[in-house]
Amino acid sequence: MPPTPIAAIRSYHAHIYFDGAAARARAEAVRQQIFERFPVQLGSWHDRLVGPHALPMYQVAFAVAQFASFVPWLMLNRQDLPVLIHPNTTNARRDHITNALWLGEKLSILHPENLPETTEDGFFNEVVSNTQPSLTP
Ligand code: ZN
Repeated sequence: MPPTPIAAIRSYHAHIYFDGAAARARAEAVRQQIFERFPVQLGSWHDRLVGPHALPMYQVAFAVAQFASFVPWLMLNRQDLPVLIHPNTTNARRDHITNALWLGEKLSILHPENLPETTEDGFFNEVVSNTQPSLTP
């Protein structure tokens, strides 16, 4: 099988997981710190399980150009929360399972059979920042 070119990655997601009130408070702190530092798209809080995610979480969508600063920052500042980082290509199943990166505890991906193997190209191209970065990461 030929290698997949990195141009197949249209954007990334980081999913920041929490379990219980204390962890949620840490997730809030991390979220605020992200808001102040990175031009990313912060998703809704999911306090109930959603999609393939095994714990409550929120999603951070970020552009390819942000990877080299945002991912190292998460390595240092995730406050012991599990983080799933996955590329967004046209194959969501592969993105979440074989091609994902985990920081901290690796959780299960639930019902992987529900993740499509073909997503319309362009679906994940645009990251619309909803943060106000003013601090140097
Ligand atoms: Zn995702």
